[in-house]
Amino acid sequence: MQKLEHIGIAVKNLNEANALFARLLGREHYKIEEVASEGVRTSFFELGGVKIELLEATRADSPIARFIEKRGEGIHHLAFEVADINKSMQGYKQDGFEPLQAVPKKGADNKMICFLHPKSTQGVLVELCQEITGS
Ligand code: ZN
Repeated sequence: MQKLEHIGIAVKNLNEANALFARLLGREHYKIEEVASEGVRTSFFELGGVKIELLEATRADSPIARFIEKRGEGIHHLAFEVADINKSMQGYKQDGFEPLQAVPKKGADNKMICFLHPKSTQGVLVELCQEITGS
């Protein structure tokens, strides 16, 4: 892993959360992006090289909707940047962690992503992410 890339926070209402985090962090979000395949609308803030990703469900069966139903709003995942996501997934799998996907998928913010099951990571949902380069 190279660094903590962002912290994902599940919210019920993205517009309200954006306003609150703008007051809290002293800056505006720099982008809003919908990931239709995941059923989420995301918003990003940046400070000191780390991002905050707010996640709002866009449909009832979205993982974020189910998370909020079970656990309420709050920290949803920690995302770590890796140099080679395929290699990292294989390595973590061999080391006993449980990737939630067989292959990386496209996430928000121009990233390929993969999650590790929280039961293999002390209850913390961990996202591995790698910036998509080239065009
Ligand atoms: Zn994320």
